[in-house]
Amino acid sequence: MLNDKRKLIITLALLLGSGFAMTSLVNYYVSKAAIRESIVANELPLTSDNIYSEIQKDLVRPIIISSMMASDTFLRDWVLAGEQDVDRMTRFLHEVKARYGAFTSFFVSEKTRIYYQTEGVLKRIRDSDARDAWYFRVRTMKSPYEINVDPDLANKDALTIFINYRVFDYDGRYIGAAGVGLTVDAVRNLIRAYQDRYQRNIYFVDKQGGIPVFGSDSSITATNIHAMEGLGAIAPRILHEGAGNFQYNSGGLDYLLNVRFIPELDWHLFVERIENEALASIRNTLYLNLAICILITAIVLLATSFTINHYQSKLEKMATTDKLTGLVNRQAFDLLVQQVLREQSRAGTSLLAIMIDIDYFKKINDDLGHLAGDNILQQVARVIENTVRKSDIVCRWGGEEFLVVLKDTAATQGRLLAEKIRSAVEAGAFRYKDEKVVVSVSLGIAAYREGEAPDQLIYRADQALYAAKAGGRNRVHSAG
Ligand code: GH3
Ligand code: MG
Ligand code: MG
Repeated sequence: MLNDKRKLIITLALLLGSGFAMTSLVNYYVSKAAIRESIVANELPLTSDNIYSEIQKDLVRPIIISSMMASDTFLRDWVLAGEQDVDRMTRFLHEVKARYGAFTSFFVSEKTRIYYQTEGVLKRIRDSDARDAWYFRVRTMKSPYEINVDPDLANKDALTIFINYRVFDYDGRYIGAAGVGLTVDAVRNLIRAYQDRYQRNIYFVDKQGGIPVFGSDSSITATNIHAMEGLGAIAPRILHEGAGNFQYNSGGLDYLLNVRFIPELDWHLFVERIENEALASIRNTLYLNLAICILITAIVLLATSFTINHYQSKLEKMATTDKLTGLVNRQAFDLLVQQVLREQSRAGTSLLAIMIDIDYFKKINDDLGHLAGDNILQQVARVIENTVRKSDIVCRWGGEEFLVVLKDTAATQGRLLAEKIRSAVEAGAFRYKDEKVVVSVSLGIAAYREGEAPDQLIYRADQALYAAKAGGRNRVHSAG
């Protein structure tokens, strides 16, 4: 019984626990897949698109300004006239800068190699100076202008873009390079907003994998993606493919990365998100689910255990034998009799019930006391028990009533046995505290009829007993 209970509890725990856990986990993994899909398919590309269009928007203006500078008649006339009066050039550059909100504006003369900017002459550029390499590139290039991003400028907090426009005289001869440098504040603000609000890492990567200094907002500390943990391993593939969605693990965190190439800057735009952070809320839901599951499982198990204990004790109470006489009690008898009836109908043998009641028992109680009565009850029970066979059932039916069920017994045989009980009690030298007590019993016999309910059989035995009492007691009467 105890083992069965433990088995049931363990089975229930396993069923409920695994059932709940499975649903929660399936739920979690489905949500996880959906979140990942939305990050990869929507969030990151959208961020990338927005930043890219912002960059393009910011680039259009300086290109137009530079184009206007390059075709400006004052600038060309001034150069052709021999670059006299530097102040006039400075004023011109200053005017452009102020009017268009440029970070800087400049002109480099091919003839004198002088670098003019808003504050006057900056310097004379030289072939040998690496920092002047851009001019010698512009000087010979085919396209009318180039976009040059200079990450080494003093203002490290800003992405600074130079538009280097080729300037020609009226006969189409190259006479220098003019243009503006702009800080791309809109892009920077956008990137900052995305990083702060949407927990995204946004940074640029050049064709060699180098990470140009761009804003203090960036959480990237390395200078080249090849040197970064996790990302380094897939860096060659990213740079080879140039664009797409990638994944890597760094510091125990899973990163989802979207890469696009921005031809205007000649850089890759990296937008990434830590998957673990995106999953935090559904992970919390998972934990909450599991906690609720554990709670519910515990409650169900407790309730089950409680119910089992309750019925167990009830059953035990019902199944125990009578305390005073040690005979089976009435509840147990009900169960036993069902079993006996089943066996009987299988074997097709006869069955007898004998109802026994002690005569004038009230008197014994009255004369000798209740304890004496109890003692006599015990003694009578022993006499009955010793008279019948082991296989017969002797039950304490009520106060001083006993019910005996005889298996495989014919009516005549049963009557003999009843008579034997009667005479055994009559002859029994009952004693209580050295005092002789005369006891007799009356008995009623009923033979089981096929198809009869146990209650009916007992009722008929009871009727027979009543007849025996009416007949003068201390006798056996058989039901008709
Ligand atoms: P009769 O059966 O011959 O008609 O007379 P009786 O005196 O036995 O009558 P009745 O069946 O009415 O009384 C039975 C008595 O048995 C009444 C009750 O107090 C007593 N009795 C029942 N159970 C117990 C018990 O467990 N112990 C004791 N001492 N007395 C009990
Ligand atoms: Mg009675
Ligand atoms: Mg009686």
